[in-house]
Amino acid sequence: DPSCEKFEYQAEVSRLMDLIVHSLYSNKEVFLRELISNASDALDKLRFLGVTEPELLKEAVDFDIRIQTDKDNGIITITDTGIGMTRQELVDCLGTIAQSGTAKFLKALKDSKEAGADSNLIGQFGVGFYSAFLVSDKVVVSSKSPKSDKQYVWEGEANASSYTIREETDPEKLIPRGTRLTLYLKRDDKAFAHPERIQNLVKNYSQFVSFPIYTWQEKGFTKEVEVDEDPAEAKQEGGDDAFTERKKKTKKVIEKYWDWELTNETKPIWLRNPKDVTTEEYNEFYKKTFNEYLDPLASSHFTTEGEVEFRSILFVPAVKKDDIVNFKTKNIRLYVKRVFISDDFEGELFPRYLSFVKGVVDSNDLPLNVSREILQESRIVRIMRKRLVRKAFDMILGISLSENRDDYEKFWENFGKNLKLGCIEDHSNHKRIAPLLRFFSSQSENELISLDEYVENMKADQKDIYFIAADSLTSARNTPFLERLIEKDYEVLFLVDPMDEVAIQNLKSYKDKNFVDISKEDLDLGDKNEEKEKEIKQEFGQTCDWIKKRLGDKVASVQVSYRLSSSPCVLVSGKFGWSANMERLMRAQTL
Ligand code: ADP
Ligand code: MG
Repeated sequence: DPSCEKFEYQAEVSRLMDLIVHSLYSNKEVFLRELISNASDALDKLRFLGVTEPELLKEAVDFDIRIQTDKDNGIITITDTGIGMTRQELVDCLGTIAQSGTAKFLKALKDSKEAGADSNLIGQFGVGFYSAFLVSDKVVVSSKSPKSDKQYVWEGEANASSYTIREETDPEKLIPRGTRLTLYLKRDDKAFAHPERIQNLVKNYSQFVSFPIYTWQEKGFTKEVEVDEDPAEAKQEGGDDAFTERKKKTKKVIEKYWDWELTNETKPIWLRNPKDVTTEEYNEFYKKTFNEYLDPLASSHFTTEGEVEFRSILFVPAVKKDDIVNFKTKNIRLYVKRVFISDDFEGELFPRYLSFVKGVVDSNDLPLNVSREILQESRIVRIMRKRLVRKAFDMILGISLSENRDDYEKFWENFGKNLKLGCIEDHSNHKRIAPLLRFFSSQSENELISLDEYVENMKADQKDIYFIAADSLTSARNTPFLERLIEKDYEVLFLVDPMDEVAIQNLKSYKDKNFVDISKEDLDLGDKNEEKEKEIKQEFGQTCDWIKKRLGDKVASVQVSYRLSSSPCVLVSGKFGWSANMERLMRAQTL
């Protein structure tokens, strides 16, 4: 073929191919995601350019991606009707590393190697066209750009330093527009050419690519055919064979044939207008995507525009899968331009205390080859994270405001601990977390109350929010510290969950009212009578000294108290010391 020309790869390309093949061997299936996303990109480009250059669309073919498999020969072909590549573009795109995405991959790969990172991490990267060589001995790219009247063929082999380009001359192989990739699979990877395997991979990785993806599938339908009855059988039944009419019988047979089958949902649910999606559809999507059997407690579907553009649907599960706060889950599926990227990035998109939130996030601003490292550094991600967190809180607040009180009780039972952890770990969201907290109190031992309910119930002269931490409602109820407050009809929060007290201490105040521990030394109920206190102090000064002497180091000091009404004495913590409850907690931890 005189048009066939040989080219050397740019040095980096050879190195990249080498790296890909050696670092991704356990993650080979990513090749399909990469090639489909290239096809999808090519269609996107054409769709975009076609708006201003309609002559690019002169071939009347649909925008789609078709994947055919030949399992006997181990061949996969992926055909798109996108923008295609001219001869020069084949050289530029497939022989050099021109685009930043792949360069970033190289750098990140190098960094992660140096940091000794798990090579599985690399599976999260977009590795681009060369990932085809993960599974192929030979790759043939035949492409027809609408800007050129000829179709050209790029051909490369694994472990080679050069590739060839020639004109497509076989009339059978001419395509109206776009690109056809033919992968000649390695001996050990031929199983990828099974139609069901490809179908599953498409469903898993590219279900929400916005162009239709068809796979070539074997189908069958049953039909009834007339068959002659077996003469031997007829003889037995009929007896006298001379008079037996030849009976006709019908039999069901399966007729096999091959056809294209649409394999993806072309319109992902999050791209639809929330007004047009029913609750049932959200619930179905949730259950299907996250393998849940119960409907979610709440969902939130939103789009953000402006500075950073993304779409998302978030869900609050109705059940908690683990007993402990679950930090390592696969709850957030990240898409970039509808291509599934990973479900392993939720730590970057949500703080860990909100890790129970499930959902999908689809960004138009992130690169397809986004990695954890890129996410961590990205300003876009910081903005996304902020918005996602806000939406999650709105959703939870929605549950708490629902008429059905059971829903929030369920939520609190499952994820209350997470919100308390949020008080400790996320000071910037205290305003959002605090109204969602629930506690028992001296006036509500059976039903949890919110801080708003507490504040509403405060007495006119009451300045602070009072609490007592204890290991049970009974010990909270029986503590002598309560006496004066009950006398004054002040409500006291009973912090009986070990995390309650730490959460409250982190909040410090709610609606300008301080949280005050009634077991601490300097409790001031705002009813001091200085004259009287002075008198009493003088009267009992010697008694206090005497008790202190007797107890020695066991107590820091012995003082006259004005906070008891019926108990003779009480042990309190110093103002800056640990509360009795905290001491109990610390002891439990060190044991
Ligand atoms: P990236 O997609 O990050 O740019 P790839 O290695 O996946 O990197 O692809 C390299 C380039 O090759 C693409 O940018 C594109 O220009 C070109 N290309 C790859 N596949 C196709 C295709 N199916 N149709 C048109 N161009 C393609
Ligand atoms: Mg690509």
